[in-house]
Amino acid sequence: MSTPRTLLALNWKMNKTPTEAGEWAKALQEELPQTDAELVVCAPAVTLSLVAAHLYGSGAGLGAQDVSAHESGAYTGETSAAMLKDVGAAYVIVGHSERRTYHGETDAVVAAKARKALEHGLTPIVCVGEGLDVREAGEHVPYTLAQLRSSLEGVQPGSAEQLVIAYEPVWAIGTGRTATSADAEELAAAIRGALREVYPDFADGVRVLYGGSVKPDNIADICAQPNVNGALVGGAALDLRSVLSMVEAL
Ligand code: PGA
Repeated sequence: MSTPRTLLALNWKMNKTPTEAGEWAKALQEELPQTDAELVVCAPAVTLSLVAAHLYGSGAGLGAQDVSAHESGAYTGETSAAMLKDVGAAYVIVGHSERRTYHGETDAVVAAKARKALEHGLTPIVCVGEGLDVREAGEHVPYTLAQLRSSLEGVQPGSAEQLVIAYEPVWAIGTGRTATSADAEELAAAIRGALREVYPDFADGVRVLYGGSVKPDNIADICAQPNVNGALVGGAALDLRSVLSMVEAL
């Protein structure tokens, strides 16, 4: 199987009003150069329709940061997969460590969200990764693989393009403390091995991203690792200049 296309997924988290997000997307549309990488903007739900309108024709895709595990109905405050699909999203992040930590999302919930996303033709970006205590105990590989396996329970993509995994060690998120390229590759290779057991037909084509303090000066090294197929970027995704630098570095 040929190497999958590098994916640069921008996770804006709870930043940018619709006005700010729309202006940013318009500027990106004007300035994004031709690139072999795939760029996806994971914007706050309330900004998605404006961002979609401004990204049109840019080559960049649209993603959401979360999705309901439910189809529709009495779930106040939630956003359904059908709504995200209708607004033009192609991807959705599920199981981000901030949702696991602050909203109590379990692996079972994450798997239910990933299944719901797939049902509606959205590609889930399933996030996994260990905390500092686990890393210091040297348990990061078995911990992350166990989390991966249960976060993929019953998740049946039809092809490699329908699934993305993001390895995000919690201690590296928003801390400026990046994992080394070797750390990223160690886990990406282990994740690839686990994916081969679950999806033997297409595991080699599934994009495995690294996330955690990725920025213009470290993205090239990290993404050059054989099992790392891109990055999920938070802080450095807010500034257009740094996004353009990262695209250029890939
Ligand atoms: P960061 O966030 O790049 O700010 O570390 C990454 C993420 O949480 O997805």
